[in-house]
Amino acid sequence: MPPSFFQSVLDLIVKTSTDLPPDVRSAMRVAMAAEPAGTRAAQALAIIAQNIDQASDSEGAICQDTGMPTFEVKVPVGANQIQMRKQIREAVAEATRRGVLRPNSVDSITGRNSGDNLGPGTPIVHFEQWERDAIEVKLLLKGGGCENTNAQYSLPMDLPELGRADRSLEGVRKCILHAVWQAQGKGCSPGAVGVCIGGDRTSGYLHAKEQLFRTIDDLNSDPRLAELEAAIMGTVNGLGVGPMGFGGNVSLIACKIGALNRLPASFFVSVAYDCWAYRRLGVMLDPKTGAIAEWLYRNPSVPIVPMLDQQGFVRTGREVALTTPLDEAAIRSLRVGDVVLISGRMFTGRDAVHAHLMKHEPPVELRGSALYHCGPVVQKTDSGWRVTAAGPTTSIREEPYQADIIERYGVRAVIGKGGMGVRTLAALRECGAVYLNAVGGAAQFYARTIEGVDDVSLLEFGTPEAMWHLRVKDFPAIVTMDAHGNSLHRDVEHASAEKLAALA
Ligand code: SF4
Repeated sequence: MPPSFFQSVLDLIVKTSTDLPPDVRSAMRVAMAAEPAGTRAAQALAIIAQNIDQASDSEGAICQDTGMPTFEVKVPVGANQIQMRKQIREAVAEATRRGVLRPNSVDSITGRNSGDNLGPGTPIVHFEQWERDAIEVKLLLKGGGCENTNAQYSLPMDLPELGRADRSLEGVRKCILHAVWQAQGKGCSPGAVGVCIGGDRTSGYLHAKEQLFRTIDDLNSDPRLAELEAAIMGTVNGLGVGPMGFGGNVSLIACKIGALNRLPASFFVSVAYDCWAYRRLGVMLDPKTGAIAEWLYRNPSVPIVPMLDQQGFVRTGREVALTTPLDEAAIRSLRVGDVVLISGRMFTGRDAVHAHLMKHEPPVELRGSALYHCGPVVQKTDSGWRVTAAGPTTSIREEPYQADIIERYGVRAVIGKGGMGVRTLAALRECGAVYLNAVGGAAQFYARTIEGVDDVSLLEFGTPEAMWHLRVKDFPAIVTMDAHGNSLHRDVEHASAEKLAALA
């Protein structure tokens, strides 16, 4: 076994989680230039840019959801794949111990988090032999929010707003547009899509994800697919979904399409949606030593150009300062579009906490509280707990519970990303509460607003799912659903649906 293989894979994981590839940075710079200053879209992108710089400066996770580690490994004939798989797993566990990866491997029957990112099916490692005398290891870290917005279509079918999608490239075009539209802000737009035409349901998704290993400027070798990629990129941003689903000029930064043969009866179009935190890197290894001979997607001798040459999130003076516990009158005075800065105690709560609260009393007083949909990366230190990454998770998963929890326990502010549905909107109005959209993926940015961890409840659910008692200072978020029945998410969805129909 090459002696440096473990260390090289560990280095790859650290860089992938903390340093966005140059091609993605460039695409995000173009996105920033396309959004007019002062808009919600521009504010979101400024926070994202600041977060990207903070992550690479401090070697912290770009996003707290470090995703499903997916390795694509090419090896010479005769290489010991059993040993390599073992060392890849050890490197994943070590990166988790160091807080570079969040513990993300959950037993699907018991709900228990393995704590080290190891378990049946995690990490994903695909091996392929090739005839070169070199080892190539590529890694994709794709989080749950964007994974949940993947879509698979079986053609022919009728698509909302777009009409019939036939078994043709025109039908494929409609599927891709629909996939980007339905993701809205839930997958932390602006995103990138990998697409597979054909295959079966399994190979289609796999090949779609493989497209995400192509660089953004890569020109498709099949001119028909190159044309389709260009056609999508030429029109998709007219949908107006915008960064974080706030509305705006950039919804997608890349579209990469592949094709597989299919059964005569099947015609699947599989779309793998990745978020702006499009984390993929690779290394070429010396087959004898396992040492890194070359980085893929990045050139370590070229200095990283910061995303921002100024401060990032700049206050306008119009922000509304809120301190917890929150007062009903202050909350009812907020309107969609207001930017708030929250200080004081904030509780995290996501899937397991919400399910728990439906059957049990909360472990803390939630009256007047701010409940943050967040699964942070947390490290135990000699002096207590330290949050190293803490962006919002996708809120819509809590829609079946949220209204009841607001009504029963008097929560005044729900913080997350991507917005919530009609039941929550009705509860906000009835109870005098708001939904605040934080910027998805901005894990380093938000971690820096946390002054300390006062306590933790329900730690038995695992660190991402526990209820952390955070002390925050000037945590910025945008009111996107208010206590007057207004929802920016509903408005953007309706407006973009009209634009989608125009692209039919
Ligand atoms: S940026 Fe958003 S979608 Fe991507 S991994 Fe982070 S939270 Fe999930």
